[in-house]
Formats: sequence, C-alpha cells, structure tokens
Amino acid sequence: SYAGVHSTSFRDFLMKPELLRAIVDCGFEHPSEVQQETIPAAINGNDVLCQAKSGLGKTAVFVLATLNKITPVPSAVSAIVLCHTRELAYQIKNEYTRFSKYLPDIKTEVFYGGVPMKHDQEILSDKDKCPNIIVGTPGRILALVRDKILRLSHVSSFVIDECDKVLEAIDMRRDVQDIFKATPHNKQVLMFSATLSKEIRPVCKKFMQDPREIYVDDEAKLTLHGLQQYFVTLPEAGKTRKLSDILDSLEFNQVVIFVKSVKRAKLLNQVLNSCNFSSTCIHSGMQQEERIEIYKQFKDFSKRIMVATDIFGRGIDVERVNIVINYDISSEADQYLHRVGRAGRFGTKGLAITFIATDEDKKVLESVQERFEVSITELPAEIDPKTY
Ligand code: ADP
Ligand code: MG
Repeated sequence: SYAGVHSTSFRDFLMKPELLRAIVDCGFEHPSEVQQETIPAAINGNDVLCQAKSGLGKTAVFVLATLNKITPVPSAVSAIVLCHTRELAYQIKNEYTRFSKYLPDIKTEVFYGGVPMKHDQEILSDKDKCPNIIVGTPGRILALVRDKILRLSHVSSFVIDECDKVLEAIDMRRDVQDIFKATPHNKQVLMFSATLSKEIRPVCKKFMQDPREIYVDDEAKLTLHGLQQYFVTLPEAGKTRKLSDILDSLEFNQVVIFVKSVKRAKLLNQVLNSCNFSSTCIHSGMQQEERIEIYKQFKDFSKRIMVATDIFGRGIDVERVNIVINYDISSEADQYLHRVGRAGRFGTKGLAITFIATDEDKKVLESVQERFEVSITELPAEIDPKTY
C-alpha cells in the first residue's frame, strides 16, 4: 500500500495499555513503515534521528514514545518538543491531547511567540496547571527559560520536529542550543524530518549520543506515489486567470495555494474572494490569535481554499487537502517536497500543480525532478477526479 502499512499491530510494541486504547480510538489500525521501524527504537530509549516521507505518521512516533516513557512528576516538565512554526506547535499539542486521553495525569501545553508571556507565566507558575510536556517554538521557549519562568531540570525527552528547518537557521539553532543546555545531560533526544541533507545530519547528531539513524537514504524514495504532479507554463500575468480556471474545473475537497510573499498572499486571497471563491489565507503578517483561528477553520473544513506562504509548507496535517497549487514555486527543491506533501496525507491520493513563469522557476522544477526522481508533466486538459 501507499503508506507502507505492515500487518503488524500496535500491540506488538510494549506500550502502556492507556496508549493502546487511545490508538484504537484514533482509528489507527496498523503502524506505518516509519512507525514500525522507529517506535521500537524510541521506546527502547535510544536517541533517534529519523527521515521518512511526508504524511506517514512521524508525529505519532515521538508522541507515543514520549507518552510511554513519562511517569509524571507533579509540576515538572518531563518532555519538550520544539518545531519551527506556531501552527505546527499547536497541531502537535493536539496530538498529545488525543493520545493522552486515558492518561489524565499527563498535561501538555503549547507556548509560542505573538501572545503575551504573562499568559504562559500564569500556567507555568500554577501547580495545578503546570504541564508535564511542552510543545513550542524555540524563541518563546528560550525566553521563558531565560526569565526563569520555565525550568527544564527534569526533562528526560527532547524532541525536534522538522529538525533540518529548525537547525538550519542560525538564530533558531542558537536558541535550541541554549534551551538544550538548560536540560539535564541524561535524556533521550529524538529528531524528525522528511528531508535530512548530508550537511544537516552531523548538526543534528551533535545533540545526540550514539543515535539510531533511520534514513530514507535514496531520495527518490521520498516521492509520494499517490500524488500526481503537473506543471503549467504561463506568463506571470496569466497566473490568476489560470488559477481560477483550475478551481472552477477541478473537483477538490480542500486546496492549499502557495505564494512567495505575505503581500502576494493577501492580494491573491482578496482577488479570489472578489471572484466568489470562499478562500482564506495565512501568513506571518497576521496576529497570532488570528493565525491559529484560521488554521482551525481550515482544519474544521469551514473553508476549502487556503492561500499560504511557506509557514504552512511543512508539517501541517489537514486530512482533506487533495490539491496543492504552487502559484509561485518554492525557491528550492526540498521545500517543494514539503509543500506538495500537504496533499495525499497518509498515503491517500492527491494532485499537485506548479506554475512556471520564469527560467528560475524552470530550474527549480528540474532540480526537483532530478533529486526526487519524479517526472512532473504538463497539466493535461482533463483529469479524472477519481484519480486524485
Ligand atoms: P508526518 O509527520 O510523517 O508528515 P503526520 O504525523 O502528520 O505525518 O501524520 C499524517 C496523518 O496520518 C495524520 O493525520 C495522522 O493522524 C495519520 N496517521 C499517522 N499514523 C497513522 C496510522 N498508523 N494509521 C492511520 N493514520 C495514521
Ligand atoms: Mg510531521
């Protein structure tokens, strides 16, 4: 199957019965390939550096492994999970809530910038509210540590999701290093991404002791086989017209349209709304409360079209997205892979369409095809809706 689902069962892993019950409630029947391979290593206590395809359940690996390990110490943080965007942090927190349903003594909280620190302080200083697991973005977590609002001396699990992205940016990497230093030496470190270049692997491993390295070494294997990928060559000025034709003619459940800047996201969203497409948009120029609200609306299916910048390009899991449109192609191949991975979650079908307006665009498309050994062909006049 697309998801590489094995016939093994979650029961084969030695996990708390409360977790096995929650897994059943979540509707997970069998572990995916990455879960099959990585959950035992993580439960065994190893540090793990894991690269695996988009949409095949890396989140559950660290959520289950950390929940399984924790014996909650009242008012002490035992596990910390870092990621690069606020929406993703919020999403991961919800996954913890889902899987800890039968573990009422384990509390999870999420912390990120753009909201008053006072709110975080109230939670962290309240004995009854203090979480055992925290999820957050590095900037805010470090600010809380520096102000001694957050104490990490009991941390036994340290997780980074989208670790290449988090550790590539020098400022974020520095924040992570400082957070890391505030945790005890003896702890388990787990890191995940769909893309882990040869350059970033040693950077990740600096945080680890004798890690189990689980890589999809052959980059061609990162291609999602349920996903059809096409391009359209057109002049910049023809993009909006073409987009509106596509939205009119293709049947879709939900669609994400990627653009390259905040300004273009705002503008395109306005244009779509004025053409009676009920779209919404998300970008870093928005207030934090609004961003999370929009993420929720989209996840709840109250909007079907999302115009987004790259803040939505990684990690975000919205089940019903079956079409991704690159109105502006990403500037590099890895980001293309993450973006199109928003469609076709957990091995479902999907469709990705990329607009090519310049020679630069063409080069990126070529590098995608080379790197991931995928053939991206011209968008045909008609596509059978059953195929995506
Ligand atoms: P990744 O981080 O690898 O891109 P996610 O962890 O976001 O993928 O998972 C993608 C989707 O697959 C989520 O909606 C998740 O609930 C679902 N999923 C994960 N594991 C399973 C499973 N074993 N069975 C069914 N659905 C699963
Ligand atoms: Mg993920």
